[in-house]
Amino acid sequence: MRVLVAGGAGYIGSVVTAALLEGGHEVTVLDDLSTGHADAVPSGARFVQASLHDSAPVLAEVRPEAVLHFAAKSLVGESQVKPEVYWDTNVSGTLALLEAMRAADCRRIVFSSTAATYGEPEQVPIREDAPTRPTNTYGATKLAVDAMLTSYAAAYDFAAVSLRYFNVAGAAYGLGERHTTETHLIPIALQVVAGQRDHLTIYGEDYPTPDGTCIRDYIHVEDLSDAHLLALTAPSPGQHRIYNLGNGTGFSVQQVIDAVREVTGHPVPVEVGQRRAGDPAQLVASSDRIRGDLGWTPKHTDLAGIVRDAWETAQKRA
Ligand code: UDP
Repeated sequence: MRVLVAGGAGYIGSVVTAALLEGGHEVTVLDDLSTGHADAVPSGARFVQASLHDSAPVLAEVRPEAVLHFAAKSLVGESQVKPEVYWDTNVSGTLALLEAMRAADCRRIVFSSTAATYGEPEQVPIREDAPTRPTNTYGATKLAVDAMLTSYAAAYDFAAVSLRYFNVAGAAYGLGERHTTETHLIPIALQVVAGQRDHLTIYGEDYPTPDGTCIRDYIHVEDLSDAHLLALTAPSPGQHRIYNLGNGTGFSVQQVIDAVREVTGHPVPVEVGQRRAGDPAQLVASSDRIRGDLGWTPKHTDLAGIVRDAWETAQKRA
């Protein structure tokens, strides 16, 4: 298939680009490099530096059969203090991309949605029919795009899939997390191991969980990537499908820190700090829907294995 990957210079987009190339697809990456890295774009892909707002000429020229859309601002804290940036990039930018697709007669899209669309869950594991009440601007913008896709499927026969990621981690194809502003637990713990930080702050130890720290569902980026390839051809014109993507098991912050110590053989000094605003105690996905519909099965569900892949890739880059 001829595909366009918006945001293919970022962590997840670059891994999926590598997997698409391996699967024999022809890939053009569109990325404005606001947070991505040009050297993360796999060498077999064509790279165009442009924003979503300027995507129309690129779509007109490439004429892709499908778009995979990863390009977004994704820092929860920043979304609370600079909401205009999030509404502009994530929502207006996506609207511009969808209009560019329509003009180029491309109506197939896989979109990176998020568990943050659900907010504080009433029930865990979270199913796709759970209420969507995002507690931050980031989640609200992603939910707005999910609604946009439902409209475009109904009105313009788009074939769309929203994949709601839980906590993506690990590395594949030598590509791992490299955020300038790092907020995620596993890469921060690995930065402590590498001596780039002197300690890790545990955001709260008084949650109603067995060890008092928050529980999250860590999914290996390679399993996530497999889901994108399955989702690419799944919907028929006029359909918008929504799938959660998690490994189905929750791990606490304390368990993650223990795994990092075990895998790296290094101490990880910690301090216990305040709760981080907007952090639910537990976020664990039910991924039964995508397992049933598309036969997706995560292969790398072991926490130590996820941490090991992230660590080995981070060491190679150092
Ligand atoms: N966390 C932490 N210290 C850190 C970073 C994260 O205790 O320095 C916790 C955070 O409160 C959450 C979990 O680790 O419970 C995962 O956070 P992350 O930012 O990786 O992902 P999120 O679940 O917020 O998308």
